[in-house]
Amino acid sequence: MLTTLKDVLTFAEEKNAAIPHFNIDNLETIEAIMDGVEAEQWPVILSVGQGAIKAGQVVYLSDLVKRIASETDIPVVLFLDHGIGYEQAKMVLDLGFTSVMFDGSRLPLEENIRISRQVKELAESYGASIECELGSIGGVEDGMKGGHNLVDLSQVEPFVQAVHPDALAIGIGNAHGMYKAAPSFDFDRIRACRQMKDIPPLVLHGGSGTPDPMIRKAIELGIRKINVATELRMAFMEGLEETVGKRDFYPMLKHAKEKVTAVVVQKIRLFRGSAVWEGKE
Ligand SMILES: [Zn+2]
Repeated sequence: MLTTLKDVLTFAEEKNAAIPHFNIDNLETIEAIMDGVEAEQWPVILSVGQGAIKAGQVVYLSDLVKRIASETDIPVVLFLDHGIGYEQAKMVLDLGFTSVMFDGSRLPLEENIRISRQVKELAESYGASIECELGSIGGVEDGMKGGHNLVDLSQVEPFVQAVHPDALAIGIGNAHGMYKAAPSFDFDRIRACRQMKDIPPLVLHGGSGTPDPMIRKAIELGIRKINVATELRMAFMEGLEETVGKRDFYPMLKHAKEKVTAVVVQKIRLFRGSAVWEGKE
């Protein structure tokens, strides 16, 4: 069932759990993710990133997700990751995306607020949700380099009051890609944000390779959406590498998908804790 980010994050908030955001790159990764989602019965965010858009995949990926979502009762969000502006948001909303991110974290606060408000109004007119970002996230994702800045706490309330996003990604020392050493998160920033007025559900980017206890702590403090991209891509590539010698196409794809599904199952169990999704309302 196709639904919005707001919908699944409201559910996550009630359950004190987090919803996984998985980046999708082809049919096989979507199928592999949904195998894990069906096995675990937990809502999911399927996300198209800038790399997939540059590769020309967005129309096909959105068709695949819409079809697959229509065949399951589990809530599925079709999401734009690190959206670059109004025009791109409109392009994907016209394709049937239910939620978009606008990433203005590299912009001065006023500019971030101005464009975030425009994209929020646009998304609302489609009945879609919006995620915004404050304090850029380090590392490299889809060729985009982030600044690894901690969120400036004095900017959070003015931003939230002006934009009213449905979700807010904050920089707490997290980074995209796989961490070379265990990251150090500033958990106090999650705590501080959660105490602010009208704060929407908080988002942690760069979930790949984060030690499990840090993820659990972030969720307990109020993180409601966690993004995982690199770990799925690594699993898929490892699966292909392990079977490439056999030169047997479909068994190779099957093995790669099984590797992805195993990561998906592990992440869902970690993110939901003891919570359960009771099924269709
Ligand atoms: Zn990200």
